[in-house]
Amino acid sequence: MNDNPLLSAWTTPHGLPPFDAIRPEHYAPAFEATMAEHRAEVDAIAADPAEPTFENTVAALDRAGQGFARVAGVFFNLTASETSDALQAVERELMPKIAAHQSWLSLHEGVFKRVEALYERRGSLGLAPEQLRLLERVRLDYVMEGALLKGAARKRYAAIAEELAGLFTTFSQWVLADEAAFCLELKTDDDRAGLPEFVLDAAKSVAADKGIDGYAINLSPSLVDPFLTYSTRRDLRERVWRAFKARGETCAERDTKPIAEKILRLRAELAGLMGYANYADYALVDRMAKKPAAVDDLLMRVWAPARARALEEQKDLEAIARREGFSGTIMGWDWFFYAEKLRQERYALDEAALKPYFQLEKMTDAMFDAAGRLYGVAFKELKGVPLYHPDARLYEVSDKASGAIVGVFIADSFARPTKRGGAWMNEFRNQSRNRAGGYPYPIVINNNNFAKAPAGKPTLLSLDDVRTLFHEFGHGLHGLLSNVTYNRLAGTNVLRDFVELPSQINEHWALTPEILKKHAVHAATGQPMPDELIALIKKSEHFNQGFLTVAYTSCALIDMSLHQHPNPDRLDLAAFEKAECERLGVPEAVGMRHRLPQFRHLFADNGYAAGYYVYMWAEVLDADGFEAFEASGDAFNAELAAKFKRFVLSAGNTLDPAEAYRAFRGRDPDVGALLRGRGLS
Ligand SMILES: [Zn+2]
Repeated sequence: MNDNPLLSAWTTPHGLPPFDAIRPEHYAPAFEATMAEHRAEVDAIAADPAEPTFENTVAALDRAGQGFARVAGVFFNLTASETSDALQAVERELMPKIAAHQSWLSLHEGVFKRVEALYERRGSLGLAPEQLRLLERVRLDYVMEGALLKGAARKRYAAIAEELAGLFTTFSQWVLADEAAFCLELKTDDDRAGLPEFVLDAAKSVAADKGIDGYAINLSPSLVDPFLTYSTRRDLRERVWRAFKARGETCAERDTKPIAEKILRLRAELAGLMGYANYADYALVDRMAKKPAAVDDLLMRVWAPARARALEEQKDLEAIARREGFSGTIMGWDWFFYAEKLRQERYALDEAALKPYFQLEKMTDAMFDAAGRLYGVAFKELKGVPLYHPDARLYEVSDKASGAIVGVFIADSFARPTKRGGAWMNEFRNQSRNRAGGYPYPIVINNNNFAKAPAGKPTLLSLDDVRTLFHEFGHGLHGLLSNVTYNRLAGTNVLRDFVELPSQINEHWALTPEILKKHAVHAATGQPMPDELIALIKKSEHFNQGFLTVAYTSCALIDMSLHQHPNPDRLDLAAFEKAECERLGVPEAVGMRHRLPQFRHLFADNGYAAGYYVYMWAEVLDADGFEAFEASGDAFNAELAAKFKRFVLSAGNTLDPAEAYRAFRGRDPDVGALLRGRGLS
């Protein structure tokens, strides 16, 4: 059909992209062709002379753009996991065109008219529950993008959206500039006192980047935290801590506060245009929480015990500090330092002793084993199929009972210069039965950034890495086990405060004794992890939770009050932050994890505005959900697992999330489990 592999039929196993044939120059023509095809499909739906029906409008819209989705699936995965100068150049050229395409789709008045006509008659269309849910979702997607606005309001909406996009970029760039500008050179042995090898290695590469022969600290959180933990130089800890907390307001010419104030004013105006009292009301329309009051209720239930615990922790730290000969008040720059001493004293949990038990290969088997026992799926590695990088590994996922293929899974575990940081799940193809031809099952990928061991040695993970591995695989299972008809409702396409349930609950199985005994095997001795070590991991789970919970929850609370501000025109960000911290009684030595001038979740895009709470919202569900398994006396209780699979992992967005949770659990979630999980009850 075409010599562009992105536009040809894919005859590869499972319809995988033909990675070995795709070159950067193939993307531009492929996007051009598939976006044109997508526009033609959508225009044809709008121009259909037949009366709108669910099938000729909503289902057709859901089916449209499969070629575009196929190309975008390859492009967005490879730009994140295996980029190159050539691919980055393509990205710069294509991103504005892709954004324009998406905005054209969401502003299509002809299609919206038909959707709206159907929505008005939705009760009399005889739709199945999943069809009704799709109609409601599609209509809401349009409405949230301003489809109901007319005339001047519609124009103003577009102008606000455009202005916000520019402000978001400025905000992120200025915070980044503050992080890059800072440099604390560690010139003498004394300057480096207390720092372990891995911090010195990182400090050396920071120095090299800045053209310094020696050691230096910048404001990357992955370096700041360990520096504050290990440096015995209190004066240097204070300098780093103060600079870190001042990001965004370090110098007048890139003070982010006026930018954030402008963003908040525009958001308030946008919410007003859409008919809401404030931005939080608007943002929560499409969330499980529904109303800001529900979020505030949850956060405040956690707040009081967390604050009390943090103050106790501070006393413990002061006691240990006094024994070490320090008599002052514990400040922000002392917390990590004395907490580490306390942790060593109380738990003697040495990361170095733990690591040999967590071999990546075995822990990958562990997550497959857990999923197999819970959800009846089997994983078989496929070798010899070309992927985009030799380290990426391919697995066929099948249903144990029927033998049917349910999906394909790619594990791309290692850090490399061509991959962005962090860990994430994505899809090359989502599950769907509303697709003309081709495969109905998904191709799911997990990306991690573990440090690869030298050839011949096993890659070892930290406890945190193990949690991350299982977390991302929880998202992976949400994609793999999806069993719905429509694309829009498949897999992880759920509400933002529900999407972390599958990932967060999956972390719990990583540390069950059954899994550790079988898979946490010492790399050198082959011995399974001893019971004392398993008990120590369990015992140390509550350590420093007061600090961590206060640092997070204060941010979540202030995010909510900021986006419900009654008078954003007169908002003074600095005064607001100070007043809110006083109102809540945020302990000074703890503080907010992200101060407002550097709070990228809120001001680098709209995704987490009035939405920083979502992790805790999902934690209520995952803690309460996992307690059901524990209470049954069997962490792999088959009946509960079957329900979780049916109502959560396989249901995608076909069910209301509160109803889905009730169907699994038999009742509404109880916040008590979260408090117990954090040791705050
Ligand atoms: Zn996640």
